[in-house]
Amino acid sequence: MKAWRLHSYGDFRLEDVAEPDVKPGWAKVKVKVVQAAVVEKGLIEKMPHIWQAEISRKLAEGKPVQLGHEYCGEVVEIGQGVTTLKAGDRVCSSGHAPCGTCDMCRCGQEESCQALLTVGVDVPGAFAEYFTLPEKGLVKVPEGPTDNEVAAFQPLSGCVSDVESAEIRMKDTVVVLGQGAMGLGCLQIARVAGAGVLIAVDVRRQSLELARSFGADHVINARDTDPVKEVRRLTGDRGADVVFEAAGGRKADGLAGFETVQQAMQMVRGKGKVVQVANLEGDLVLDSVLLRSKRVRYIFPDRAEFEALRHVAFLVATKRIQIGPQITHVLQGLENLPEAMEITANKAKYGATNPAQIVV
Ligand SMILES: [Zn+2]
Repeated sequence: MKAWRLHSYGDFRLEDVAEPDVKPGWAKVKVKVVQAAVVEKGLIEKMPHIWQAEISRKLAEGKPVQLGHEYCGEVVEIGQGVTTLKAGDRVCSSGHAPCGTCDMCRCGQEESCQALLTVGVDVPGAFAEYFTLPEKGLVKVPEGPTDNEVAAFQPLSGCVSDVESAEIRMKDTVVVLGQGAMGLGCLQIARVAGAGVLIAVDVRRQSLELARSFGADHVINARDTDPVKEVRRLTGDRGADVVFEAAGGRKADGLAGFETVQQAMQMVRGKGKVVQVANLEGDLVLDSVLLRSKRVRYIFPDRAEFEALRHVAFLVATKRIQIGPQITHVLQGLENLPEAMEITANKAKYGATNPAQIVV
């Protein structure tokens, strides 16, 4: 089968490798659609990330790394003892799979696994024609959503967790900084969760139009309007109850650096919450006097668990949230992964919102 494997930082190759064997308790998945996350491009380039230590260790031992965790697949074979899946089931993953062997897994509490496997880091991922995962790391997807939509579920499960971490209350004024896939996900799920006025901020007109169509009451183009002043104006100088920071990150990936984190701290109300959705890189400098005087609750969200992924499937299947309109770039064939990564890392240049997808 064909698989993309990282041999050393920057040395990322499409290779012919043996199809994986199915272990007891595991299932073999044929990848139908996969998308390249921004984080994966960064990992290949050795960007600081919580997964990087494990990747460095494997590469140092001469073990190639097969990334890929945002996908839609089909079960083609099940291992001994697998009871909840069968060949033909359509599946995706939360990005993590329970190990199946620790004390918590053995007593049926996989949600509390003590040695969670990161898909694409601890076990080979979905940048391949086939890969395998423990049964409990695969979530069956209902009829309704397309394969392309299912491939975008994993990051949205993070949005469910982001919104849960914010503990939104009815009528809360919510600002979302950044209308990429994560920002639009948080916007829509915050609306479902009972938010009041929704304010979307971005520098791309097209993304703001999507935000408007997904339920934003106000859109602010930060290219020509100061978002801090505008949020203050829209909230009668009070500030927002909740701000989701989904714009920050590496400027090399077309993201906003730390600038939007500072804006979030300035536009949130006293005792309001800032939820750090975007993955930041490097040392963040914050005005501690401002944070202390406003008593800002700066929240780093919980990891999305399997239930969050099932909830995304429910939200999309019941049309409470939409992802189809964001999926604009779909390439055919695994060999086009580098092009998909290029589009994903330069979404503004290519007019993309969701990461570029590949039909395998
Ligand atoms: Zn476990």
